[in-house]
Amino acid sequence: MYSKKLKEAELGFTYDDFLLVPNASYTEAKDVDTKAKVSRNFELNIPIISSAMDTVTESDMAIALAQEGGLGVIHRNMTLEQQVKEVKKVKMSGDLTIKDVVTITPNSSISTVKTIMEEEEVSGLPVIKDEKLVGIISKRDIKPFLNNNSDKKVEDIMTSDVVTIEEPITPSEALELAYENKVERLPVIRDGKLAGIVTIRDILNHKKYPNAARDKNGNFLVAAAAGPFDLERAMALDEAGADIIAVDCAHAHNMNVVKFAKTMKENLDADLIMGNIATSEAAEDLIAQGIDGLKVGIGPGSMCTTRIIAGVGVPQLSAISSVADVASDYGVPVIADGGLRYSGDIAKALGAGADLVMLGNLLAGTYESPGDVVVMNGRKYKQYRGMGSMGAMTGGFGGGADRYFQEIKGPMKHSKLVPEGVEGAVPYKGTVNEVVFQLVGGLKASMGYCGAKDIKSMQEVAKFVRITSSGIKESHPHDLLITNESPNYPTLD
Ligand code: 5GP
Repeated sequence: MYSKKLKEAELGFTYDDFLLVPNASYTEAKDVDTKAKVSRNFELNIPIISSAMDTVTESDMAIALAQEGGLGVIHRNMTLEQQVKEVKKVKMSGDLTIKDVVTITPNSSISTVKTIMEEEEVSGLPVIKDEKLVGIISKRDIKPFLNNNSDKKVEDIMTSDVVTIEEPITPSEALELAYENKVERLPVIRDGKLAGIVTIRDILNHKKYPNAARDKNGNFLVAAAAGPFDLERAMALDEAGADIIAVDCAHAHNMNVVKFAKTMKENLDADLIMGNIATSEAAEDLIAQGIDGLKVGIGPGSMCTTRIIAGVGVPQLSAISSVADVASDYGVPVIADGGLRYSGDIAKALGAGADLVMLGNLLAGTYESPGDVVVMNGRKYKQYRGMGSMGAMTGGFGGGADRYFQEIKGPMKHSKLVPEGVEGAVPYKGTVNEVVFQLVGGLKASMGYCGAKDIKSMQEVAKFVRITSSGIKESHPHDLLITNESPNYPTLD
């Protein structure tokens, strides 16, 4: 009876067990389309999202990734108020229209205008009467009247013939209009009322990131993590503007978590991604609750010890393919979370059925990840730790603990926790832009070899060959001393 169990056990595989086989291809790497659906209602321009970890994703990472076309998931090892603030920072940073506009009335004095401009550090004010825009007044307009005790009012010197733009606005239209009329800023009008201001500087900034991942208003997409039963946090993040709530749980096939997913879904406008899971049964059970995306990975993470501490997990490529077999029937996106070390692993994850990948280690250690650079033995590093590590569970807001179904209470908290992750450091890698360039470049090269013009065709046409440990050895550089470090092949630990 017991030996049957072992005999019937399947063999599980991961990235190093396979290579992708080159196919006859009409696809050039430069023509590849890397758009990826991350949840039922949102699409990214690159198939990369960042881990909800306190050494990986806060607003700086989420902004940098959104600029590249990906998505950051703001971690939850902070108070709800802080996490809401981080979400709002991302949303506001990509906003073309400044909505919080200071205005003035036509009968105000010039000295009032001057005081407001100085206090608010603005160089122009829209003039509002009866909720309507009637003019605009700038620093240049008031300058001649500042030193002569003039009793002039705003309406006497304002520009009444204001060039405005109607919502919805596109950066190109706004820029054209501003250049044509030689103005620095354009009041934005919605339903006849002032909705905000757009400046040339913001438009140019916006145009700098043509591949950015944006919502329908042109703001950056952002996701935020919530605990499996933390409806209050999920709803507050939704309210704050998060496009996606990513429920963050070590075992999302816990049936209480599965049941609660339905309650979460019913109470959110945002899309709901659930994870982590590693089997087709878990995928079936969660999809039945109406969720919008699945995150796969039990124990593949670089700083994770679940497979050692609990002896539980499924090698990642097998886990991805089992979940994708089910999820693809329902059109639910699959995120391969953890264990990716090279761009080639991203290609293998997509070839095995994932729609996109979630990266911790590969994005930790960038300029935009939280934390300071430390120098050890003359080399730069940044901290990277598991959310189930002792440090994350006790050092932050305890946001890592409930992911592992553990509670922090009482004075002996350290000795009463069983960590499932370790704390360490990773080499400093430069900016997200540089890292993503190499990762996406490698993926595109792979899709060229496989003959896949987009991610859907990569999932369909990718063929694998199983390899042995000799194959792995042959795959890495061998029989030479590497003298120059390559930007996509780290050689120093
Ligand atoms: P990496 O990209 O570093 O290989 O893996 C990152 C992923 O590991 C995260 O997205 C998350 O799913 C998972 N993870 C983060 N912290 C821990 C931890 O402490 N324990 C375990 N088991 N997984 C973790």
